[in-house]
Amino acid sequence: MTILLDGKQVAAERKTRIQTQIAALAVRGAKPGLAIVLVGDDAASRIYTTRMAKLAETMGMAVFVKELPAGISQVELLNLISALNADPAVQGILPMMPLPGHLDADQVAAHIQPAKDIDGLNPLTIGLVAAGKSLAAPCTPRAVIAILDHYHIELSGRRAVVIGRSNVVGKPLVHLLLARNATVTVCHSKTQDLAAVVSQGDIVIAAVGKVNLVQADMIKPGAVVIDVGINEVDGKMVGDVDFERVSPIASAITPVPGGVGAVTTTMVLEAVLQGMGHV
Ligand code: NAD
Repeated sequence: MTILLDGKQVAAERKTRIQTQIAALAVRGAKPGLAIVLVGDDAASRIYTTRMAKLAETMGMAVFVKELPAGISQVELLNLISALNADPAVQGILPMMPLPGHLDADQVAAHIQPAKDIDGLNPLTIGLVAAGKSLAAPCTPRAVIAILDHYHIELSGRRAVVIGRSNVVGKPLVHLLLARNATVTVCHSKTQDLAAVVSQGDIVIAAVGKVNLVQADMIKPGAVVIDVGINEVDGKMVGDVDFERVSPIASAITPVPGGVGAVTTTMVLEAVLQGMGHV
């Protein structure tokens, strides 16, 4: 029988622990602070900001949403990041991506103090992850590992195939999986014969953004399938995996929604707490 890897369940357990930690901090008069920087009016970023801010507030964090007009200059944006870097009430800085085209996102990322870089955007943070410091990784790849851990899925010595090589999901996942002694293969838009490579995977993680990219005939029977993708079809959210056809073949699979995305927001909270000295 295929196990449904329930992100909501994973998130609920972790949230209970987070609430305990925040309560312990409150006794000492301390409150963790999350700053979200939203530039312009990207609809998806706005929805995520509202959801993230509500969750963090409900959990007892201080939330500072910095809404900036799309026309803001690079210097003004960097000045805001500097102010947040220096603000002792802020432990985590989360700039919503993508930024409007005239802004240099790489420069913004490099400007975030690594200790407050909760989504692993600064190249220094990326380097830490590559050096095996998994706790510095961005929230989505950490959510993938949290799900695998929750369900006691063995990684050591197993063959993991990651589809997607972005700095914020695919590449850091490679390092997190390597740190757990998996044998890792990365696929991307130029990979030839994707099916042949993916079919080698004991664990397959799709992080692309293409509906039904992962088909049943690509999956080795009994493989674990993690779907990071978020796509919209007829107003409904779907992942990258053909869930209906793949799930009977897999030994375990994440749904979309209710899989990785449900855990990612929780990992943001954990990363902010990490900035308070909690792990
Ligand atoms: P991205 O666009 O930066 O990267 C996509 C990657 O897919 C690229 O590395 C590209 O080489 C690869 N790719 C494109 N076409 C391919 C193909 N035909 N075969 C194999 N590889 C291909 O995207 P991203 O930011 O890494 O996000 C990936 C997906 O994950 C998106 O759907 C995004 O919405 C979703 N996402 C989900 C969460 C979550 O919490 N669940 C968080 C972040 C991103």
